[in-house]
Formats: sequence, C-alpha cells, structure tokens
Amino acid sequence: MNSGEMSITIGWLYPKLMSTYGDRGNVITIERRAQWRGYNVTVLPLDQNSTADEIKSVDVIVGGGAQDRQQEIVMRDLQGAKAEAMRDKIENGTPGVFTCGSPQLLGNYYEPAFGQRIEGLGILDLVSIHPGENTKRCIGNLVIEVTASRLAQELEAMIGTKPYLVGFENHGGRTKLGKVEALGRVVYGLGNNGEDGTEGAFYQNAIATYSHGPLLPKNPFVADWLIQTALRLKYQQEIKLTTLDDTLATQGREAMFKKLKVNLPNIANTKV
Ligand code: GLN
Repeated sequence: MNSGEMSITIGWLYPKLMSTYGDRGNVITIERRAQWRGYNVTVLPLDQNSTADEIKSVDVIVGGGAQDRQQEIVMRDLQGAKAEAMRDKIENGTPGVFTCGSPQLLGNYYEPAFGQRIEGLGILDLVSIHPGENTKRCIGNLVIEVTASRLAQELEAMIGTKPYLVGFENHGGRTKLGKVEALGRVVYGLGNNGEDGTEGAFYQNAIATYSHGPLLPKNPFVADWLIQTALRLKYQQEIKLTTLDDTLATQGREAMFKKLKVNLPNIANTKV
C-alpha cells in the first residue's frame, strides 16, 4: 500500500471552545505533514453536535487549551457514550496531543479558581487545582526533556538525539500526577506545578502537556510520531515516513534554546 491509498482522520476536540493560544496549529501541522507525504487527511471537529460513533472513527486526537468556563461547558457535553468512546480510543492506543485545559479534563478532576470542582474523565491519573486568583499564573517559555520512557526512545530513534520540546505555558491550574508517567522533566519554566519538576503526562499514546506554542510546529518530530503511530495502528504495518525539510523549525528551536540559555546536547541535529 502506498501513501496515496492511506488516510488519517484527525479528531479536533471542541474547536470553538478549546483553542486558546493558537493550539489549532497542532491540527494544521499534523494535517500538512501528512499531506506533504501523500496521505489523505480529514479534519473532523468533535463538538456538541458530534456522536460517539464519530469519536470512534478518528485516528488521531487533538485537544487544545480552554478557559475555565469553556472547560465546564465541554465537560457537561462529554458524558455518557461520548465519554466512553474517548476512553476506549485512548485506552486502545489512539495517539493524541492534549494541551493545558484538555489534560485537566482527561484527568480525575479540575478545581477552578471560582465555582465547583469539574469532574474529569479519569483517563489520566492526575488532578489539577487552581489555587485561586491571588496566586500567580504559570506563564512563560517552557523547555522540557521527554522522559516518558517508550516515547523518549521512539522519538530518539526518529531524530537521533535526546528529545527536547520547546513551548509556552500559560495556566493557573497546578497538576499533580498520580500513577501516570510524566511526559518529561522541566529544563526551563514551571511545568505541571512549579514544584516537582514534572511536565505533562504520557499514557498509552496520549501526550498531555502544558505546552502551547503551539507545540507541534515548534517540535515537528512529535507531529511525525503522531502520524506514524496513527498509521501503524490503523494499517497494522510498518510505516516509515519520508524526510521533510525542517530547517526553519530547527533554526527556530535553536534560537529559542539560545535565548533561554539552555545548553542541550546535540540540539542542532533534530531533523527527522
Ligand atoms: N483553565 C486552565 C488553567 O488556567 C487551562 C488554561 C489553558 O488551557 N491555557 O489552568
């Protein structure tokens, strides 16, 4: 089977409610990088009008950040069969990238600065609490080393060096991990809670992070990992993605590392 005979469907969670800080860039990056290699791509918004069957039909899931009020609206909608469909997808290894408000929803609960606790889907064993409006938000550039073991290995196999991600965080909520593995270790910034040095979470093939940026254009090899993982799962065959010219993205990453004065080993060699 060649790439023109293969397709992926990107499920985009609540585009109108959950797209703060340009997280739609993650959808565009997966879409373009798959299309440039000849794969057919469909972007399917998953929102209040969607059914559980539509959630079941997607090959990769993207969820962006949201304000507390929007998170509440989403959680009221993501119940019953739709919640079960999401749970099944993630448990069965559908890859996804979930930013900021989205991991809070996939966790056990989120306590906003005002109002009631919002119960999460309980897929990721983590809790998030906003300590109140008098506590400083976590805002600024973020650099992490991916430490989630299988993901770190697979990314390293793709890029030939230890995987570091660059992004931008802006959140009031502080996340504490339960039994779930962290996505990475904070090299620069605050991450999950500014205390324990963890950032994000990794479960099955779901990447959860506080990193906007958006994440994928800044770290395109992660988009390639999502595409590769989605295609392998769907077609049950070895998939080797063709190389793209990522010179500009690599230069952008290097400029950022330099600006933040983080010295990382072999960062120049991050082409896929
Ligand atoms: N409402 C959440 C918080 O402030 C998420 C914010 C976001 O997605 N940027 O923690």
